[in-house]
Amino acid sequence: MYDSVTSSPLKKVTILGATGTIGLHTLDVISQHPHRFSVFALAASSNVTSMFVLCKKHAPRYVVMLQEESAKLLAEQLKNIGSKTHVLHGQDALNFVSAHEEVDTVMAAIVGAAGLQPAMAAAHAGKCILLANKETLVLAGSLFMQAVNKGGATLLPIDSEHNAIFQVMPKAPGRQTGTLASIGVKRILLTASGGPFRNASLEELANVTKAQALNHPNWVMGPKISIDSATMMNKGLEVIEAHWLFNAEADQIEVVVHPQSVIHSLVEYIDGSVLAQLGNPDMRTPIAYGLGYPDRLMSGVSSLDLLKTARLDFVAPDIQRFPCLKLAYDALKAGGTAPAILNAANEIAVEAFLAEKTGFLDIPNVIDAVLSGAILEQVESIEHLIAVDQQARKATQQWLSSH
Ligand code: NAD
Ligand code: MG
Repeated sequence: MYDSVTSSPLKKVTILGATGTIGLHTLDVISQHPHRFSVFALAASSNVTSMFVLCKKHAPRYVVMLQEESAKLLAEQLKNIGSKTHVLHGQDALNFVSAHEEVDTVMAAIVGAAGLQPAMAAAHAGKCILLANKETLVLAGSLFMQAVNKGGATLLPIDSEHNAIFQVMPKAPGRQTGTLASIGVKRILLTASGGPFRNASLEELANVTKAQALNHPNWVMGPKISIDSATMMNKGLEVIEAHWLFNAEADQIEVVVHPQSVIHSLVEYIDGSVLAQLGNPDMRTPIAYGLGYPDRLMSGVSSLDLLKTARLDFVAPDIQRFPCLKLAYDALKAGGTAPAILNAANEIAVEAFLAEKTGFLDIPNVIDAVLSGAILEQVESIEHLIAVDQQARKATQQWLSSH
């Protein structure tokens, strides 16, 4: 099928994590460009109600639910309305719709380490990968980048900061083999909103509730990344993400707290030029950039009103109150399996906080304890990383149940 306006073929898109915040924003942008995109597959964990609505609207060829029960329920509901969508379930099905030969673009927007395997499948199959799932790069950065290069995939960062950096960088990530200096870049300035507790004291942080932590001042996001933003682990994960995407060393990535979230990140060149990307905090901008690349597409995001914004503030992050940021820098510098352990411990700690089984400050405490107690190794294979991930999850659960 061809787009009658641009006479270019319709891009077939698989959306992993379709019922989540990024997935829904992606479908919103796609809906604005029916002549450019067709939805090939939608995938999610277990939210049948939401997936049914999406299938009715977008009529994908395939839908994948991780849970078999959810798939059965969805298949029944779709059958009742005469839908032609094929319903699949399980991990292999996630990989199938990510690597299918008809697919052009894969939006990787599953949350957490669960997003790794389908993202790897898309990389091996040489797809255009729109990477929202930063945990893939934290857990398996070296193996994932190898798979991207070997598979001939195109990797476009969707995380707003990395998308901003990509937009002002001279070369595309994934293909950049030289150092930052070799392309005239001195350093990357990663902006952070500071989250809902930017001005909270340590005493106040000890008692914050789940509802307070989920209430991000600038962005609407899923629960896991919202808690990561509140602890600033999100920025730590993003430092590691930037390392892999842009071939940047830890000391070439500086985090700057910028509460307005208008400047999405900056790149400093060796001649003193600093280039930034600005815009309203709305994920449809980086998503539209990824979907249309190298063209620009309308996203539905309103114009930035600089007069209304009036001022842009910058402060240094405080690692006393937000130790997760330092833990992530340390894991990046330690290398090997350290970032995978950091990521796994963080996922379990955040899950426990969301279940109201642990306090906010226990999140950095348990991650620190698990990393200190682990024997770090060189990364050998995906199977090795998955075993390390499982072991770190167990160690985190043990620490949490004994404290
Ligand atoms: P979310 O919680 O809103 O959505 C997560 C989606 O993943 C849901 O569709 C869920 O069904 C699916 N999912 C979860 N576990 C799964 C599994 N095991 N198998 C299949 N599907 C599974 O999360 P979100 O805010 O959309 O974030 C998604 C990813 O994008 C995260 O990695 C996050 O860090 C990243 N990201 C999000 C934002 C944002 O603004 N929301 C910004 C930058 C990066
Ligand atoms: Mg981000």
